[in-house]
Amino acid sequence: KSPSTPIHLIVVLLVTYFVCAMGKSNALTCPLPPELATKLHVDPVAIDSASTDYGNIVHSRPAAVLYPSSIEDIQGLVKSSYNCPIPFGISVRGNGHSVDGQDMARDGVVVDMKSLRENKTGIKIRVSKNHLFADVGGEQLWIDVLHTTAAQGLSPVSWTDFLYLSVGGTLSNAGISGQTFLHGPQISNVYELDVITGKGELVTCSKGNNSDLFDAVLGGLGQFGIITRARIALRPAPTKVRWSRAFYSNFSDFIRDQERIVRGGQRDVANYLEGLLMFDNGTPTEWITSFFHPTQLPRIMSLDLQQVFKDFAHVPGFIDAKFVSYQEFLTRVPNVENESQTHPWQNLFIPQSRISDFNVGVLRDIVLKRNITTGPVLFYPLNRHKWDAELSAVIPDEDIFYTASFLHTSGIDNWQVYEDQNKAVIKFCEEAGIKIVKYIADYTTTEEWIKHFGSKWTTFRERKAQYDPKNILSPGQKIFNGV
Ligand code: FAD
Repeated sequence: KSPSTPIHLIVVLLVTYFVCAMGKSNALTCPLPPELATKLHVDPVAIDSASTDYGNIVHSRPAAVLYPSSIEDIQGLVKSSYNCPIPFGISVRGNGHSVDGQDMARDGVVVDMKSLRENKTGIKIRVSKNHLFADVGGEQLWIDVLHTTAAQGLSPVSWTDFLYLSVGGTLSNAGISGQTFLHGPQISNVYELDVITGKGELVTCSKGNNSDLFDAVLGGLGQFGIITRARIALRPAPTKVRWSRAFYSNFSDFIRDQERIVRGGQRDVANYLEGLLMFDNGTPTEWITSFFHPTQLPRIMSLDLQQVFKDFAHVPGFIDAKFVSYQEFLTRVPNVENESQTHPWQNLFIPQSRISDFNVGVLRDIVLKRNITTGPVLFYPLNRHKWDAELSAVIPDEDIFYTASFLHTSGIDNWQVYEDQNKAVIKFCEEAGIKIVKYIADYTTTEEWIKHFGSKWTTFRERKAQYDPKNILSPGQKIFNGV
C-alpha cells in the first residue's frame, strides 16, 4: 500500500534532471573545434582563477577557461559561440587587473591571455626602428613593451602609471598616466589594430581602413572585438629622468600650478605630471620616505630647482628631486598582489570648472570626515584636446578635466565601508550637478551605461549591433546584458 512512493521518486528524478540542465552552460554544449578541446579547462584551479580579479570583490564563475596557444584558437572559440543556437559569453582576461569583474564571464568562457604570452610563437613585440612603431600582441604586458623597446633606445609615447597591465586591457579603457596631458591617452597613440569581432572575423583596422571598428574598439570596453595586435607609436627613449616633487598645503595653489603645467606654458618644467593627495591618516608615507635618500643630497643641491619652480606656490623649502634612469622611473609602482586584500577603487574624471566644489564636497566633507581612506589618491589634470572624440572612451565636456583615483586597499571583510564612501561621492556629485565621468566604470545596468555614454550611446549601441550582434563579447562589463 504505497503507490505514492514511485511517484515521489519520479518527481525527485525530474527535479534532479532539471537542476542539471540549468547548471550546464551553453559554452559546454555548443560544438567546438576539436583542437580547442585540450585548451578548454573546467578544473577548479582554472575556474577559480578566472572567477576573481585584482579587486577581489566580484566573483563570477565561468563554465570554462580557454588557454589559447594561437590567435586561431580565440577565433575558433568566438565562431563556435556565434554559430551556436544559444551563444555563450566570452571575456578576455588580459592580466586580471580589473577591480569590478569586468574580465569575467558568468557561465561563459574566459580567454586567459597569459597562455598566449607564455607561448613562444605569435606576434609578441616587434619593433620597427625606422618607422617608430611596435607591433605588439594584445596579450603583452606594458612592462615587457618597455623592456623590449628600451633595449632599442625607443619608448612608447604614452604610458600607464603602472605597467603590469595588458596592452588589450588598457586600450579597452584608455590608458592614462602623468604623460596623458602632453601626449594623450594610450588610445590616442595607436596606428593600427588586429581585432577578432563578435562574429569571429579577424579584421585589420586603422584610421584609414575599417575606421569605424578602430574607433569602436579603442576605449570600447571589450565590446566590439578582441585585440590581438596593436601597432603603437614609439619615440626615442630618454635615458635619464629628473624626478622632482613639491609639497602643497593649499588646494587652490596645488591645482593652479598643475594647470599651468598642463596648459602648456610650463612644458620645460615637466613632461610627466602626477598629483597625489595626502590626508592626515594618509598611507603614502612609504612613497615619501622611499623617494629621498640622504646620499643623493649633493646631487639634489646641484639642481637648480628654485629656478625650475620659481613661479610656483608650493610650501617653501618642501621641494626635492633626484635623477633616475627612464626605466627606473617608469617602473616605480611595484607589482604587488595579495589575496587577503580587496581593492574597492574608484576612478573619476571631474570637469575643471567644478574642482573647487569637488574639493569642498568630496575631499573635505566626505573623505576627510570619514577618515577611512587608505592607499594613494591620485589627482591630476588632463587636456581634452589630446583625446580623439571619435573613439569610444567617454570624458567630461571641458578643455581641462581632472582624474581622481581613490585606490583603496581593504581587508576581505571591510570593503563595504569604502564602497559606501564611493557611493557617497557619486551621490554628492549628482546632487551638486558636478558632471563626473567614471573611468573604468562599474555600472551594472544598461540604464546606467546609457547615462554614462550620453551622446555617444547611440553610436556605441549601433556598433555593438554591427560587430557583436549576438552580444558575445565582454559580458563582465554588464553593458548589454539587460538588452
Ligand atoms: P583585464 O582586467 O584582464 O581586462 C579588463 C577589460 O579589458 C575586460 O573587459 C576585458 O574583456 C578587456 N580586454 C582585456 N584584454 C583585451 C583584448 N586583448 N581585447 C579586447 N578587450 C580586452 N589604468 C590606467 O589607465 N592607468 C594606470 O596607471 C592604471 N594603473 C593601474 C594599476 C593597478 C594596480 C590596477 C589594478 C589597475 C590600473 N589601471 C590603470 C586600470 C587598468 O588599466 C584596467 O583595469 C585594465 O583593464 C587592466 O588591464 P588588464 O590587462 O589586467 O585587463
